[in-house]
Amino acid sequence: MLHDAHNHLQDEALASHLDRVASAWPDLAGVGGEMVVNGTHPDDWPRVAALAVAHAFVRPAYGLHPWDVGASRPSDWLVQLASRLDAEPRASVGEIGLDRWILDSAAPDDPRLGGVRPASMHEQAEVFGAQFALAAARNRPVTVHCLQAFGELLPLLRAQPAPARGFLLHAYGGSAEMAGELVRLGAYFSFNPAFLDRRKAARQETFRAIPEDRLLCETDAPAMPPPPVWRTHKLPPGPDGFAPNHPGNIEAAYAGLAALRGVTEAALTGRIAENFIRFFGPPR
Ligand SMILES: [Zn+2]
Repeated sequence: MLHDAHNHLQDEALASHLDRVASAWPDLAGVGGEMVVNGTHPDDWPRVAALAVAHAFVRPAYGLHPWDVGASRPSDWLVQLASRLDAEPRASVGEIGLDRWILDSAAPDDPRLGGVRPASMHEQAEVFGAQFALAAARNRPVTVHCLQAFGELLPLLRAQPAPARGFLLHAYGGSAEMAGELVRLGAYFSFNPAFLDRRKAARQETFRAIPEDRLLCETDAPAMPPPPVWRTHKLPPGPDGFAPNHPGNIEAAYAGLAALRGVTEAALTGRIAENFIRFFGPPR
């Protein structure tokens, strides 16, 4: 049974492929295999909610993504988030986080950022803190994105109570040394098969060292496609020439992580299923 701890099935890039993905999922993930579908802005939360109604394998997550902090949003967005959590007991908070890459390193013409207006780190931290506090107060799972911003994230995590069940750092890109403190603060870490790229040796080293009971696997589909040799599922490119990542590539995450850690896929799959249920809660 495979679980995708982090994707964006509601994304427009997957809209024309939804039937294909939904019919493939039960066969590849097994009975009970689930995916956590992360909203990024109040505009896409209704699509996430509809997917959770339509498909038993979808667990909904609602959040304001750091890339969307600079976009306009309804003034009562945080109240809307709280009422979604109250109405949907299986819902988690995500994707939220901090991103210094969009401020300092992203090329202005990066196609992934079409139309994004980067928000200051101060504003990102405020929006992150409010959502993290909401998750902590309700002890809901919360999924955190952190790109080149651990210097800002760590002090916030030290200062602010986390949900008793912990929190997830998706596609963890920090060091193995820092992972030790993050484990003590309650972190889980999801492995993305894009890290199987030969140039990502440092990430691979980190994921060899993460404690077994804090590991999860993810795709971040339609983003972060695995290296071509690891891709088990392909989708045709859209009009922009970009081929969206298929959530079925979760197979590559399990196979790649098992190989990295020198364990059998069966053993890893069992451990991750336990971690997934402990963190995200019991199956429907
Ligand atoms: Zn994501």
